[in-house]
Amino acid sequence: MTPEAAKTILIIGAVAWFVIRWPHQRRSWKTAIRASQRTTREKLLLTCSFTGLGIIPFTYVFSGFPRFADYPFQPVLAWCGAAVFAAALWLFYRVHRELGRNWSDSLEVREQHRLVTAGLYRYVRHPMYTAFFMWALAQLLLLPNWIAGPAGLVGFGILFLFRVRREEQMMLETFGEEYRTYMERTARLIPGIF
Ligand code: SAH
Repeated sequence: MTPEAAKTILIIGAVAWFVIRWPHQRRSWKTAIRASQRTTREKLLLTCSFTGLGIIPFTYVFSGFPRFADYPFQPVLAWCGAAVFAAALWLFYRVHRELGRNWSDSLEVREQHRLVTAGLYRYVRHPMYTAFFMWALAQLLLLPNWIAGPAGLVGFGILFLFRVRREEQMMLETFGEEYRTYMERTARLIPGIF
């Protein structure tokens, strides 16, 4: 594995991510919304995540900036990054299928919203965020740069940190006791751990 191959894997991964999401994104524009919390705060959080997982690493991939923060490339780390990215893509695909029309890129409740507690949602209540953290981890392992590598973990971490409680609150307000008992038997991101 060379640094160029690692960068190419990141590009292919991001394109595959977009391809998986696109049909769901299109359908979500047509699915009626009952309540929305797509506030300025939410938009700022989405921008943070997009900057950390998109703008910063791809500026590095295509221009080498910021070169002063480079460190020596370790092929074994990059191979681990490729494996984590592949697993993240599988997870991202499955979770989109399981959430179906209930999915939204922001905090929204659909007209016909159904609480999903089966499939991967049996084990964790935020498997899609697990997939995003795995992408961010893959980015760290693939890019030998102290800024572009960890930017995804920082950017998505900020979104997660400031969104997750609000999302759970919104689900509690919508589904009440059903979501409360669901919370009691599930972890947030990693089964049995967190
Ligand atoms: N946090 C979840 C979903 C991310 S998509 C995950 O990481 O897998 C965000 C939207 O999903 C929110 O607007 C919310 O309406 C919806 N959502 C979150 N958990 C859900 C669940 N268990 N069932 C149905 N919809 C859910």
